Amino acid sequence: MLHKNLTINEKGVLCIAEQDTVELVQKYGTPLMVMDEARIRRNFSVYKNAMEKYFGQGSYPLFASKAFSCKYIYRIAKEENVGIDLVSSGELYTALSAGFDVSNAFLHGNNKTDADIEYAIESGVGHFVADNLTEIDMIDEVAKKHGKVQPIILRLSPGIDPHTHAAITTGQVDSKFGIAIETGQADDAVEYTLNKKNLRLDGFHCHIGSQIFDIKPFCDAGKLMIEYVTHVKQKFGYVTEILNLGGGFGVRYIQSQPELNYEDFIRLIASYINEEVKRSGIKKPRIIMEPGRSIVADSALTLYTVGGTKEIPGFKNYVSIDGGMPDNPRYALYQADYTVCLASRMNDKADFTCTVAGRCCESGDLIQEDVTIPKPYRGDILAVLVTGAYNYSMASNYNRIPRPAVVAIKDGKVFEVIRRETFADLIKNDL
Ligand SMILES: *Cc1c(COP(=O)(O)O)cnc(C)c1O
Repeated sequence: MLHKNLTINEKGVLCIAEQDTVELVQKYGTPLMVMDEARIRRNFSVYKNAMEKYFGQGSYPLFASKAFSCKYIYRIAKEENVGIDLVSSGELYTALSAGFDVSNAFLHGNNKTDADIEYAIESGVGHFVADNLTEIDMIDEVAKKHGKVQPIILRLSPGIDPHTHAAITTGQVDSKFGIAIETGQADDAVEYTLNKKNLRLDGFHCHIGSQIFDIKPFCDAGKLMIEYVTHVKQKFGYVTEILNLGGGFGVRYIQSQPELNYEDFIRLIASYINEEVKRSGIKKPRIIMEPGRSIVADSALTLYTVGGTKEIPGFKNYVSIDGGMPDNPRYALYQADYTVCLASRMNDKADFTCTVAGRCCESGDLIQEDVTIPKPYRGDILAVLVTGAYNYSMASNYNRIPRPAVVAIKDGKVFEVIRRETFADLIKNDL
């Protein structure tokens, strides 16, 4: 199977963390997202241990909230003693509601609203990741009003193309994110920030993209950032404390993709970056990374009930499921890869090639095209694997479809972590 926590039991049913998926569906209904908590905790601890071991003390991971933001994940992040990334007041509110200590949080975003800045400073968010000069002005102003000196780091665009999908590439100069090094605007921002009385510049950030399977773009970006740190030391006498290298490690969604060993990845990137630091003679900054996908993606799968199949002679076959783009818009957005299996009959012969279609009034509402599974019938349970990241967090109520329930498995016990939306939830804001 694609990941170790997925198995097939004696009934030929797909199991995750040893739980029979058909039994889970009988109890909780579909669509249903199922998470294996041990896997989430393992992923956190791999990052935490490897970063401290290879980058040195004071280096640690932040969980990129946008991959999966809910109280449950912030409780785990708190227990695992890792930091978090936030991008909005909504994520901040959720983290605070879960009792997360947000002095361990970084607030991102290419357009933080005045309200976001107020709320974050009031709540004691540890760091802002500032994206532009007007924002720097506003953070300084609000910090002053609250009698605080707010630590910030600057998001820079190092001009790296990691050759992943264009929609998830973020580090190039022509980007809505960050301040370009190449154009000299980064220098202006450093000088500007150093002159602000209510800001404390702690360092720099870059994030080159997502779903990257190669260490080279991370090494290249790291090298450019170390060169920049060296440059600002020479130009402004400024000593960088924090260097945040963003997220982006790839996750195995389909058989042809590798399963990365994140400890090895971090070890290799660290040895390269540590060497660059040594060569440049600068004080070694604390390194931060911001994994999102690689913490939660492979911890989860989504279960659907099959409505039926449609065979169009000379064209293709469709299988319709009781979910789709409202709970997983990633195929519709950027043709994301997924592995689909017939969870209720895993050992039957896979000889039916089909497109898995959602139930929305959009032809683009597909989960995957050209997958080969046993021919499904109405009532069969279909599983889409590796759905822990950017599924629930991107979910919508399109066609007034309630968001699915999310259950977690821990030590052989199953419990709900997000309840299924009700029809009453759907109209609760309608006046
Ligand atoms: C999306 C994002 C991440 C997380 O990326 P993954 O590919 O999910 O690891 C980290 N940092 C920033 C700034 C991001 O925008």
